[in-house]
Amino acid sequence: MIHALAAVIAFMTFSLDFGQVIIEDLLPLNTPPQKVIALTFDDGPNPSTTPTVLAELEKRKITATFFLIGIHARDYPDIVKRMDKDGFEIENHTWEHLFLPHCSNATIDVQLNRTTDLIEKITSKKPHYVHPPMWGFDKRTMAESKKCGIDTTLWTIDPSDWQDGNTNHVVTYVLSRASAGDIVLLHDIHPTTVAAVPIILDSLSKKGFKFVTVSELLKIDQKLATEGKLDWRKKAEWQFPGLIPSAQQAEKSETARKPNTKKE
Ligand SMILES: [Zn+2]
Repeated sequence: MIHALAAVIAFMTFSLDFGQVIIEDLLPLNTPPQKVIALTFDDGPNPSTTPTVLAELEKRKITATFFLIGIHARDYPDIVKRMDKDGFEIENHTWEHLFLPHCSNATIDVQLNRTTDLIEKITSKKPHYVHPPMWGFDKRTMAESKKCGIDTTLWTIDPSDWQDGNTNHVVTYVLSRASAGDIVLLHDIHPTTVAAVPIILDSLSKKGFKFVTVSELLKIDQKLATEGKLDWRKKAEWQFPGLIPSAQQAEKSETARKPNTKKE
C-alpha cells in the first residue's frame, strides 16, 4: 500500500510538471465514475463534409465539440449556426491555424480574439477553450491564451486521421483505446473520417459510452481532482514523446521505483 502510494506520488511528480507545462491543466487525468467520452472535431467547418458529421450525430442525439478555424467559420456561418442550434459545443482553433509557439503575443491575441468574436457574433456564446493547432503550445502561449479568456486543452486519443486517410485505421485506433474520461481528436474535413464517424458512434454507444462535451468532461475531471481522486490511468495512453512520457518511459520510470512489483 505504502509502495503503491509512493509510486503514485513519484509518478505524479514525474508526469505532471513536464517541460514547465503543467499537464494536469491540459488533460483530463482522472477516471470518471460514469462511462463518459468527448468527441472533438477540429479544422472545420467544411461545407462538403461537416454537414454529414452533424447529421450522423443528430440522428443519434449524440453531442460533440467542434474546434473551428476562424476563417472557415467566417466563410460558412450557416454551418456554425446549425451547430449551435443543435446544441453542439463550439470552441476556438485560432483564426488561421497557426503554430502558436512561433507567434508573438500580439498575434496570439489576434488569432484567438478574432475567432472568439466571430463565434460570439454568430452564436451569442463565447468559446472557452482552444485546441492548439499542430500540438503547438508552451507556457507562454497558454498564459497569453488565458489572457484572452481561452484555456488550452488537449486530447487523449489521436488516431492522426489527417495523416493516412484510412477509415479502418481511424475506427480501430479509437475503439481499441476508448475508455471513460477520454477526449478523442478527429477532423471533420476528411471524407475518410466522415465515413468512420457512424461506426465509432454506434460501437461506442453499444459499449455503453455516454457522450459529453469537452466542457462537461473537464468539469467532471476538475470535480474529481478537487475531491482528491486524481489517478494515473492515462499514462498508457499518453503518446506525445518529448512533452509527456510515453507509456514505455512511464513504465520504465515506475518499474525503477517499484522493483518488487510484478506486472501481470
Ligand atoms: Zn487543426
